[in-house]
Amino acid sequence: MSLIEELNAQYKEIEYLNNATALMAWDMRTYLPEKGSDERAEAYGYISTLAFKKSTSQELGRIIEELNGSEVLQSLSDDEKAMVRVATKSYRRARALPPEFYQKFMVLVAKSEHVWEEARKRNDFNGFAPYLEEIVSLSREGASLYGYDENPYDALLEGYEEGMTSKRLREIIQPLKEELVPFLKRIIENGKAPETGIMKGKFPRKAQEKLSYKALKFIGYDFEAGRLDETVHPFTIGVGVGDVRVTTKYPPDEFTSSLYGSFHEGGHALYEQGLPADLSGTPLYSAVSLGIHESQSRMIENMVGRSKEFLTFFYPHIQKAFPNNFKNVSMKKFYRAVNEVSPSLIRIEADEVTYNFHIMLRFELEEAMIRGELEVCDLPRRWNDKMKEYLGIEPPDNRDGVLQDVHWPSGMIGYFPSYMLGNLYAAQFYAKAESDIKRLDKRLERGDLKPLIEWLRVNIHSQGRRYEPAELLKKVTGRDLDPGYFIKYVKDKYSGIYSL
Ligand code: ZN
Repeated sequence: MSLIEELNAQYKEIEYLNNATALMAWDMRTYLPEKGSDERAEAYGYISTLAFKKSTSQELGRIIEELNGSEVLQSLSDDEKAMVRVATKSYRRARALPPEFYQKFMVLVAKSEHVWEEARKRNDFNGFAPYLEEIVSLSREGASLYGYDENPYDALLEGYEEGMTSKRLREIIQPLKEELVPFLKRIIENGKAPETGIMKGKFPRKAQEKLSYKALKFIGYDFEAGRLDETVHPFTIGVGVGDVRVTTKYPPDEFTSSLYGSFHEGGHALYEQGLPADLSGTPLYSAVSLGIHESQSRMIENMVGRSKEFLTFFYPHIQKAFPNNFKNVSMKKFYRAVNEVSPSLIRIEADEVTYNFHIMLRFELEEAMIRGELEVCDLPRRWNDKMKEYLGIEPPDNRDGVLQDVHWPSGMIGYFPSYMLGNLYAAQFYAKAESDIKRLDKRLERGDLKPLIEWLRVNIHSQGRRYEPAELLKKVTGRDLDPGYFIKYVKDKYSGIYSL
């Protein structure tokens, strides 16, 4: 067996273990009977640990070390070199934390999530603060174990968006702030607001479900390689080659959660379904990063799903699904309502114009905490100040302020920026797709998504993890990340909607 074959034999085993835990996780979040949850949690923990042990084993370390020998490396193909690059990075990162440290962190996070849930209900930031202090302190320790050049935060960011740094993020955020904070003000003060009452009402579950199926079919989701189920917090999960599952929810008093949730998760799923099957069981059978993943979901959800062009085609299907609500509502009215801009306290409810502000705020605060420049006890005050600065509103309590997201209690410091990067990547990719595909707008009006999906397949999905995020973006669009694409997209679209 060649060294590459040895490497991939190890990866194949890890992939099988990951498939098992993915299926268990899907089941835990959908249909697992309540009484089965205790033993399931143990079994899940056991198999996850097996996978972790495999991915940090000395045997794998030996193979990787030999593959990195210059003579061996030179003899490899480009794909094989990429496999070695990904495997080496993952291995070093996984081995950087001593098992006792990892265990300590995991126990802390499990407790902290529980305490946070209770604290959030009671609006009790002080009850949660000691746990967050401990999470920040261990994350700083983790950052030094991983190693970094300038900023400890970068070591954490690297775990979610390979190659990204806080310095680069600041450069990206600067123009977004300069352009979009005043633009939001103009929308609120001078814009012609849409009528949004039409979006409220009763939306039968069956009709919502049918529409979600339709939406997924139209974007090219393959139901022979996946399924749609209901859950509380929607997600997409890849269980293996040919099995990528999506979930959604059906609140009775509005339908955008289910429809646009399906477009969003469908975008993630298209990516996973489009990964190169011939590279399964290798380090390259994976998405590039969380940010690139999010670019796929945001593109389908917003740039396609909420566009005038696609709604020209799709709105009649919405009317047919909910005749009592929309029979007498014009497409134009619906298009404006579904793109309402409204600064809200809650990130997950944010529109396209305000969404990134929520992320900037979290990035600036968590980065300051990791650098030791912000104490946890000062967090709520700083949070509220920034909300006021970016969005012009202030939360009345911590429940809908600093306590709203699960990321910090879960120890995921460094995760938030990938949401913003997803929006920016999406705009840059889409601009390129528009210039590559003849009359993409006219095709969307006819409901013809095939050329766009094919473009994503060829340029992004089928590449697996061959490239780092910045490399892939440059290779596909010919340019480094430029927030100008997103700024232009938002200004063009919303100037029209708000008659500015
Ligand atoms: Zn997403």
